[in-house]
Amino acid sequence: MKYTPPSRLKFYSTNGNAPAASLEEAVVRGLAPDRGLYVPESIARLTPETLADLPHAAFHEIAAAVAFNVFGGDIPVRELAQLVKEAYDCPDPFTGSPMVALKPVTDRIYALELFHGPTLAFKDVGARFMARLLGYFIRKQGRGECVNVLVATSGDTGSAVANGFLGVEGIRVHVLYPKGKVSEIQEKQFTTLGQNIVALEIDGTFDDCQALVKEAFMDEALNRRLQLTSANSINVARFLPQMFYYFDAWARLTDALPAADLRGQQVVFSVPSGNLGNLTAGLYAKGMGLPATRFIAANNRNDVFFQYLRTGIYAPRPSEATIANAMDVGDPSNFARILDLYDNSHEKICGDISGATFTDAQIAETIRSTWQQHHYLLDPHGACAYQALVDGMRPGETGIFLATAHPAKFKETVEQIIGAPVAIPDKLREFMAGTRQCVPLSHRFDDFKDYLLRTCC
Ligand SMILES: *Cc1c(COP(=O)(O)O)cnc(C)c1O
Repeated sequence: MKYTPPSRLKFYSTNGNAPAASLEEAVVRGLAPDRGLYVPESIARLTPETLADLPHAAFHEIAAAVAFNVFGGDIPVRELAQLVKEAYDCPDPFTGSPMVALKPVTDRIYALELFHGPTLAFKDVGARFMARLLGYFIRKQGRGECVNVLVATSGDTGSAVANGFLGVEGIRVHVLYPKGKVSEIQEKQFTTLGQNIVALEIDGTFDDCQALVKEAFMDEALNRRLQLTSANSINVARFLPQMFYYFDAWARLTDALPAADLRGQQVVFSVPSGNLGNLTAGLYAKGMGLPATRFIAANNRNDVFFQYLRTGIYAPRPSEATIANAMDVGDPSNFARILDLYDNSHEKICGDISGATFTDAQIAETIRSTWQQHHYLLDPHGACAYQALVDGMRPGETGIFLATAHPAKFKETVEQIIGAPVAIPDKLREFMAGTRQCVPLSHRFDDFKDYLLRTCC
């Protein structure tokens, strides 16, 4: 090995009222005991040699190099390499495409396509890594135990987590979803899998599902009998792996541009933002040595973060429904991590990040005109990030926007906007052909608790 392993990670809570935690503790717990978010105390910078090695490497190799720098003090290098390989060395069986791809849209703007994983959305990247990291820690504990992952979903998180954890030994996933309130495509993506994935169709709303999960974590009798954990996006094992593709983007850009063009280029990343996990991972990547000049956080009408950047005042408010619905967030959970990273300084935050906000009509216009002018089909989330670059790039800058979902996931919306049919990728079609299996439950906690005690491993 030519690298010396980095030191073990230590995590502290953004609320400052919990003892420092190891990686294992932070991953298994999810949230810190004081209800704060775990953040790493420090992460070593990539050496210039490692950075110089990244171009020409495949995504899973880049992920391995970055993962080693982050997790190498906690996980033996052979295990870590295996884990990354299982998570990411899985080209699309239909198209052969790797999980991440960089595509030019204009001469200065590139799409970082993060939708080539099993559920066609970027959450696959974090979920696949988290599943294997949790699996590793369970095997290491060696008590032959099984962990039960509880996840409440309004659609997309459930499918990414279920597919990410599919077939991982020692883990059973219970996906709670509101009956009749998720799209058919989304429902098929977590109800047709079988194996270690169980879908629970709750007769209630998404909020009921979330309340059931919260109550389960607080129920002493349940927690004495069963090992329960969550897989939501505040978990460090889902959030940190999102750094991998920022480095991949930079590597692909250096592959694409002649050295003379790249020199002096200022690279701007534009990120469609809801809970701000994706953006925060980019900011951490910059701290690790990613050659990024600045970031743009693109919001839909739920622009609490945009308003914070503009005024310095953080004013959460109830979310509104938009056509970019995975960004309909009124109180972004990772805001606490951004404040922590920049010592609570609005001025420092504005030094690295600017904002943008778009109405549904503006998003639709962007999808339409980009399709007409550049023959590139955006989904409503990526459209916000793309337009933010078009509006906000300065001379000498090259822009990369994160395309977080495949446009076919929003088929009806996108077809209506461009006035033409959108082809469904074979992968989605396969889900549609599967047989739906689920356990119907009321939204009463006693029923849920009963179910868990009867069926949990
Ligand atoms: C979850 C999601 C987002 C928002 O990402 P955050 O990390 O919550 O900011 C954007 N686009 C799509 C398609 C998503 O599923």
